[in-house]
Amino acid sequence: MKKMFLIVIVYAFSLLEVYSSQTFERALLNYGMSKEDVNSLPLPIALGVVDHRELLVLKHKLLQSDDIQETVVLYIDDSDKILTLTKNQFGYNLEESSETYTKEMMTYQGAIVGTIFDSVLRDTDDEILANTLQEAFQLDFKNTKKLKSKAQYSFDVETILVNSEIVDHGIIENAKINVGEAIIEKEAIYDLDSETSRLHTKEPTAEEKVFLSPVESHRVSSLFNLQRKHPVTRKVQPHRGIDFVAKSGTPVFPALEGTIIAIGRARAKGKFILIEHASGFKSTYDHLRKFTKHLKVGDFVTTNDQIGEVGKTGYATGAHLHFGLIKNGEFVDPLPYFQQAEAQSSNEKE
Ligand SMILES: [Zn+2]
Repeated sequence: MKKMFLIVIVYAFSLLEVYSSQTFERALLNYGMSKEDVNSLPLPIALGVVDHRELLVLKHKLLQSDDIQETVVLYIDDSDKILTLTKNQFGYNLEESSETYTKEMMTYQGAIVGTIFDSVLRDTDDEILANTLQEAFQLDFKNTKKLKSKAQYSFDVETILVNSEIVDHGIIENAKINVGEAIIEKEAIYDLDSETSRLHTKEPTAEEKVFLSPVESHRVSSLFNLQRKHPVTRKVQPHRGIDFVAKSGTPVFPALEGTIIAIGRARAKGKFILIEHASGFKSTYDHLRKFTKHLKVGDFVTTNDQIGEVGKTGYATGAHLHFGLIKNGEFVDPLPYFQQAEAQSSNEKE
């Protein structure tokens, strides 16, 4: 039953392809035109379309607005054509520009210094991009000014060029922020009603939602958070995993079958085990009281093989299991990767 539910969710998402353009009508309604006015505009013959509904606009921009005239530029999707709409005392006029444009996917990346908005604006000179990125991550970071570890942003965006010069940006297809070795990824999801796309936290695929709770308790006291104030060191540093509520001595099991690649003790993590799984995943189990006897690097373990006991070794205020999930070398929020209803968060502090 659980699995059925998952498949339905994934199917619904795959239907929502990321469209980057708006209809011609929607684009111009944004500038206060009436539907009648939009539909009465004669389309330039060179476009080869006669129906306004067939025309898709990649990006539109108000170029000029004063008492005499208003000018809107429209980049027509699936073509290289640019249209210019002017409005003055004589009414509306739509013309094809003599210039053409090209569309390219560009990657921007840079260090986060101060706010995300400031950092993206510094590198792109585009306030809309800077705002979009700031908003997309506002629930993940309360205040990036406090980030001490090296933080980096990166995103792919449609870019509009005229005569090889960047004139505007379209839709951001995906974005990520790295802090230390941890990552938060977003991807664009298209909204049919508003004909716009928004950046949402990237969902694991159904094949990736396979992890089980490593302890019997499904309660989580501390979430994945890239700017948490550490309860022991009091420093702002990423919490690169989640903390399960569990008493000292509670049995710990692998969240997924795999091979033990490290077993040892470190100052902050205490006694820890690192397991490598198929398809680029690794998982960590920290602050353990003890390891299961005779367990060693190279051992293959299943989700039924106890690997240790919950403890409070290393930097821990009390007994709990710190669980970390590494995907392709970077720590990700483990919560979405658990099988449905495996983990539930509570508001308790550790
Ligand atoms: Zn933790």
